[in-house]
Amino acid sequence: MATHTTPRDEVRTPPARLDIFGFEPTPARVEVIPRSRRWRVSKALTNLLLAWLAIPIVMFIPPHFPWVLAAFGIGIFRAWGYYKQRFTLVSMRGRCPKCAHELAVEKPTRLGEPHRMVCPNCHQTPVLAVDVAGLPAAA
Ligand SMILES: [Zn+2]
Repeated sequence: MATHTTPRDEVRTPPARLDIFGFEPTPARVEVIPRSRRWRVSKALTNLLLAWLAIPIVMFIPPHFPWVLAAFGIGIFRAWGYYKQRFTLVSMRGRCPKCAHELAVEKPTRLGEPHRMVCPNCHQTPVLAVDVAGLPAAA
């Protein structure tokens, strides 16, 4: 899920590596933003509210019910995604442990725990392991 960054966000560069079982892990350079509980709750509620506010509008579009269901579901899906977003992955650069193909993340997204990627070259799924333990928790 894409998300936005603002100049106030504190970007951190913790140690990280790309792992595929059976191959030597490769180092990765990452930028992450720790997200506070307040930020996550506020983003979750905003997204839930916006999607649910669309329900009285989309219910007039035939065939009615699927749109209502979609707006209801999208609200919950997006809210849950923001609520779980303890860290935003701003960028990542590394090489696939199997084929050494260059892998990159350039659009901010939620850092999955674990964060799986797909190598477009060998179609393996390296796991991006970010050492977030050393990061101070966001207020
Ligand atoms: Zn690969």
